[in-house]
Amino acid sequence: MRYKVDHDYHIHSQISLCSNDPEQTTERILRYAEENGLKRICLTDHFWDDNAPGMPDLFRDREYDPNAPREKIPDRGLSTARWYRIQNYAHISRALPLPKSDKVNFMFGAETELQYDLKLGVTREMIDRLDFVIIPTTHLHMGGLTMTAEQMASAEGRAGAWITRLEGVLDKDLPFGKIGIAHLACSLVAPSPEDRIKVMQLLNTEDLERVFAKAARVGVGIELNMFDMLNAIEGETEILLRPFRIAKAQGCKFYLGSDAHKPCEFSRTREIFERAVELLDLSESDKFHISK
Ligand SMILES: [Zn+2]
Ligand SMILES: [Zn+2]
Repeated sequence: MRYKVDHDYHIHSQISLCSNDPEQTTERILRYAEENGLKRICLTDHFWDDNAPGMPDLFRDREYDPNAPREKIPDRGLSTARWYRIQNYAHISRALPLPKSDKVNFMFGAETELQYDLKLGVTREMIDRLDFVIIPTTHLHMGGLTMTAEQMASAEGRAGAWITRLEGVLDKDLPFGKIGIAHLACSLVAPSPEDRIKVMQLLNTEDLERVFAKAARVGVGIELNMFDMLNAIEGETEILLRPFRIAKAQGCKFYLGSDAHKPCEFSRTREIFERAVELLDLSESDKFHISK
């Protein structure tokens, strides 16, 4: 049976500092799900767990009060680390309780972070508390936090980081039934669209096969992100799809994630998801299901 577009496990609300759109409420997100016939959705605002070990001291911001009222939080000109320190549990849990619907299961998760030294921005205790945790291995734009200067200096360095960061997550002891790997072909892998394509082309097929075989073995979810495909120009689609084709051949399971930050982005999600399902020829047996 063809893969049904019946869920979206990567959605940001206004709570995420990069959304900060007053229209992007949990009620609006639920309405998007109802209007598109989605049965399961998950809220995944950006998140850094206060108890996560190892944020480099350099990045700690002692002046900032993470419990300050929302309206006092600046949303522009923040350093990456400060930006993350703000988005702790006290911050993201402001979205709770989530609105309810008899048609939609609305889950509460988060998109955390992976440091350059492969330390996670979330503790095991917090993963247990959340319904679903997205780990972005391709936020390759945050020098010092997610990447070393050396890794960032060349397309080869970025391609190497793409592999080692993904593999580093899969080598951890995590409850992979509730872990998703975000946007593997996203524009954040490189500073320009041309460089992004170059990095994706530099990914070695043998490395991809080994890493995705591991992903299939541990049972992690591989995300099909709306924006990964949206920006592809003619002739680039296959380059961006290659890792996903290899992942499928290795037996990986996939989930859909719009990564929407504002309501206007909901208008094309279904069409783009359907296209991804079509291009990858996915069936229901290729679907990732969140488990405890
Ligand atoms: Zn992300
Ligand atoms: Zn996101």
